[in-house]
Amino acid sequence: MQTIIEKAVGLDEDSEWLRTASKILRAGGLVAFPTETVYGLGGDALNPLASEKIYAAKGRPSDNPLIVHIADMDALYGIVRDVPEKARLLAEAFWPGPLTMIFEKNDKVPLQTTGGLESVAVRMPSHEVARALIRCSTGYIAAPSANTSGRPSPTKADHVVDDLNGRIEMIIDGGEVGIGLESTIVDFTEDIPTILRPGYITQEMLASVIGEVRMDRGLIEESSGIHPKAPGMKYKHYAPKADLVIVEGEPEAVTTYINAQAAFLREKGESCGVIAADETVCLYQAEQVLSIGSRADEESIARHLYDVLRRFDDLAVKKIYSESFCTPVMGQAIMNRLLKAAGHQVIQV
Ligand code: AMP
Ligand code: MG
Repeated sequence: MQTIIEKAVGLDEDSEWLRTASKILRAGGLVAFPTETVYGLGGDALNPLASEKIYAAKGRPSDNPLIVHIADMDALYGIVRDVPEKARLLAEAFWPGPLTMIFEKNDKVPLQTTGGLESVAVRMPSHEVARALIRCSTGYIAAPSANTSGRPSPTKADHVVDDLNGRIEMIIDGGEVGIGLESTIVDFTEDIPTILRPGYITQEMLASVIGEVRMDRGLIEESSGIHPKAPGMKYKHYAPKADLVIVEGEPEAVTTYINAQAAFLREKGESCGVIAADETVCLYQAEQVLSIGSRADEESIARHLYDVLRRFDDLAVKKIYSESFCTPVMGQAIMNRLLKAAGHQVIQV
């Protein structure tokens, strides 16, 4: 299939990209588009055939449900059985934005979209390109991240092209995304609202609006074998091709350890990569040292994480050592993704 790749120029209904994309979506085809979190792979959420195509294009396991993207609150009431008061308050506080909420679904939502579940995940994105696309198509776009299953999520149109060119009808280029990590997911089908995936909207931010919010046990004890409730969180994810290890400890000890490992690998004729912060990048002697962002600006670390992991796939390194990034606000979301990418390999020094 020939994939149309177009820049999102203009937001009115007559814009060329918007007319082409909405026509494709209405006909049951697939369009990748930017959101404020990562690029999404969109299809009409109420069309079971479109959802099946999404799973096929990504190679996504069919029990891993899709998030339905909407542009206004009326759309939410159209697909769920009930909106709890606390969910309404969170919507008021954080929508449009990087928050997904899970509700009991009604019969309009096909089981193909929800991976066979009776619940549905819903998000109202703030990115103007995403909003225009939802409004001008059927009002409900199912969109997982627009990467091949298992690979790092795409934060630039080029990443989507690398993974899905020739497999979907269209890719809309809206430049680099702002946040770079997937949305926070809060489950409202439990007695107490529960975070199934950490993201830009933190537990503290949620609790300041609705009081108690739990963290899914499968998330906290992810390496313990307890299954996380979000089916997607149990799969290997975000992984670069090289073996990735996170090194934790005092900054000086981390640098010394990684440099020693790099020297050891060099002697064996193997090249080594390092993921470091702007502040420490100059301290490493390894073949490929990439900066992920500044510790003084933790959002820059979140924004560059997937790009750095993808860049290592183009560099011929066998092993990557990464600093740890337990930053004050976004640290939980960043480390959730980085630990998954590393298959939970952590060395304490
Ligand atoms: P992605 O769209 O690729 O960012 O992944 C969406 C995430 O939301 C996956 O981890 C899914 O398992 C999770 N998810 C979507 N719908 C539901 C649902 N109804 N119940 C629990 N988790 C869900
Ligand atoms: Mg994903």
